[in-house]
Amino acid sequence: MPLRYLFVDMNAFFASVEQQDDPRLRGRPVAVIPTRAETTFCIAASYEARAFGVKTGTPVWQARRLCPGLVTIEADHDRYTVAHHRVLDAVGSVLPVGRVLSVDEVSCGLVGDERRPDRAVGLANRIKAAIRARAGEWMRCSVGAGPNGMLAKVAADMHKPDGLTVLPDDLAPLDGLALTDFPGVGPRMERRLKLHGVFTARQLRAAPAATLATVWGSKLLGERWHRLLRGEEVPTPPERRRSVSHSHVLPPELRTDAGAYGVLVRLTHKAAARLRKMNYWAGGLSVGVTWKGEAGAAPDPAGWGRSGWSAGCRLPHCQDTPNLLRAVGHLWGKRPAGEGVPFKVGMALVDLRPAASATPSLFADDRAAADLSRAVDGVNAEFGRSMAYFGGMWGLRDAAPNRIAFNRIPDLSRAVS
Ligand SMILES: [Mg+2]
Repeated sequence: MPLRYLFVDMNAFFASVEQQDDPRLRGRPVAVIPTRAETTFCIAASYEARAFGVKTGTPVWQARRLCPGLVTIEADHDRYTVAHHRVLDAVGSVLPVGRVLSVDEVSCGLVGDERRPDRAVGLANRIKAAIRARAGEWMRCSVGAGPNGMLAKVAADMHKPDGLTVLPDDLAPLDGLALTDFPGVGPRMERRLKLHGVFTARQLRAAPAATLATVWGSKLLGERWHRLLRGEEVPTPPERRRSVSHSHVLPPELRTDAGAYGVLVRLTHKAAARLRKMNYWAGGLSVGVTWKGEAGAAPDPAGWGRSGWSAGCRLPHCQDTPNLLRAVGHLWGKRPAGEGVPFKVGMALVDLRPAASATPSLFADDRAAADLSRAVDGVNAEFGRSMAYFGGMWGLRDAAPNRIAFNRIPDLSRAVS
């Protein structure tokens, strides 16, 4: 089975950037948190903190209990973006970067005799050295080599931190893994697999395509998993975006009606700019708010929790900020008054269509609004985010920082040199 892919996964990325930038933090348990509030969750933990059981997703109050010496640091996504681009430069100095899968994951294709195990090991070590040289000595990664992207990623996960795993021809090391070690198998899928008699990774690899199709509820997906687990190269279907969404846990000083609305307006500006950047048009929009109050006030990431409110509406397809803001304001006006203290707000643009298949508005006003919005994007690209914005945002430019979701990387046009 040829080694077609090398997968690079940065170890404890955000926490490592903090330790790289501040040597006093090295060797100490560090957790990166989204905002200064005990009710939020750790978004990254250094290996020193992990030794105490602190993980991504651990509530801050619990992390402190687990690890009394824990240093918590508020996330600085601009610095993480800079580090991300340094890592990309480092990888690219050794091999062409194939796909950037997230802020801390990159895969590269291997060709010719790069596919020999000894050559793959050599390339992996050169990548590690280049990352240390360009991004800093504290920036470690785990590298995996495998016959397809999915298995290379699984291989990279097998040894952390600073690991290097090359899957042998027979893929035998996969048999020792847990079902949930395969990306795409979460607790729910694991339960379904077990219901169908698949309890181990060995059984997963031996399962017929028909069984996997039943488990995944799709013939196409079953077939795809069956081939991937055998080390075949399976082309990824082109993805079409269905939505753009942003949400934000309010810092304590903005937990008011006006503060919540201001942040919502800010999120709308960001979402609209992304929509235009992708060149999609939105045909609907939703907004939501979670009230503070329940124990821990932990909103489940999928919805708005039991104590929350959300509403949505359809729109004639558009991509300009003023029209989207108008819809947000309209929906916001319908929220029940005096329900509680706002804790988190979010909004989503839905029913997205690529520009090519949307019918741009025939109304001159809407066309002008789209042009104006693009001009604002241009100014912001030239002079830094949020130089120009629509009136409702006044005073709230820094209210929702430029956070990085793991599956999305902000573009950085000029900051890295
Ligand atoms: Mg990682």
